[in-house]
Amino acid sequence: MTTKPFASSADTAAKTETLEELADGVWALTAEGDPNVGAVEGEDFLVAFEARATPVAARNWLRKLREHTDKPVRYLVISHYHAVRVLGASAFEADAIIAHQNTRTLIAERGQQDWDSEYARMPRLFDEPDSIPGLTWPTLTFSDRMSIDLGGARGELVLQYCGRGHTEGDIVAWLPQPKVLFAGDLVEAQAALYTGDAFHYDWATGTLDTVRSLRAEALVGGRGAVARGRSEVDAAVEQTRGFLNGMREHVGAVHEAGGTLKEAFDRTHAALAPQYGAWPIFEHCLPFNTQRLWDELTGIERPRIWTAERDHEVWDALQG
Ligand SMILES: [Zn+2]
Repeated sequence: MTTKPFASSADTAAKTETLEELADGVWALTAEGDPNVGAVEGEDFLVAFEARATPVAARNWLRKLREHTDKPVRYLVISHYHAVRVLGASAFEADAIIAHQNTRTLIAERGQQDWDSEYARMPRLFDEPDSIPGLTWPTLTFSDRMSIDLGGARGELVLQYCGRGHTEGDIVAWLPQPKVLFAGDLVEAQAALYTGDAFHYDWATGTLDTVRSLRAEALVGGRGAVARGRSEVDAAVEQTRGFLNGMREHVGAVHEAGGTLKEAFDRTHAALAPQYGAWPIFEHCLPFNTQRLWDELTGIERPRIWTAERDHEVWDALQG
């Protein structure tokens, strides 16, 4: 058996990006499994959703958006603290950077370690890493819900916390009028889940129930294509839940039986690979996912901090 390259370090092929207008002034840029971004037009301003890994990568997205609108970015919303979603923030020159209050806490607590970890795991996403001016600090935070009046007849954009999930501070952006949902990494569409900082039980139950209860007609997940229509939206939510429940079942069974972390990884890999193995970042994510779920089952409430060193220890023990 050949050794697998670490995480996504060998994934160097650029992806094709697709910009779609999902409703009047509601934009989504998807990229074949790379992190998605979006933007919503107000009457005379923009709300951007997610910031990409570097300012240079963010400016490449803004250049595409600027072919359609020149409104200034008043708000940049970041769905959670992960580096590939936040470190490009300076490119937007937004008046305010909005996040959940737990996201701000996580950036203070582990933002630098996460930056180092994600850069080593997914170097291709860090387009000109020297363009990053430092950690991204949210300037406006909330705990449950906040609404942005888009002006005119555009209605409101609702930012909502749905419970612990992919991290302890994920928020979604919801447009009740056109029923479009930007779900961040709480939902993936035919891309593997990263659960290395997750709360598997909460995410698979109440959090996804809340996401589904919005009854979106279009859903932009963290990665993968836009889900269009209720059946595709529900399928994306349930496929996310299915991945989580598959991990809970198989890691849980080995833990319950007194087995080892490596046995849990091997069993879970064998069980999930037929359905999910060909999806983006499956091999990358599964060791970190298994380690976090194992920790949860051992009673470690909050995710341990991933560092570049710990990443390699876990990788070598499980995928090496
Ligand atoms: Zn994430």
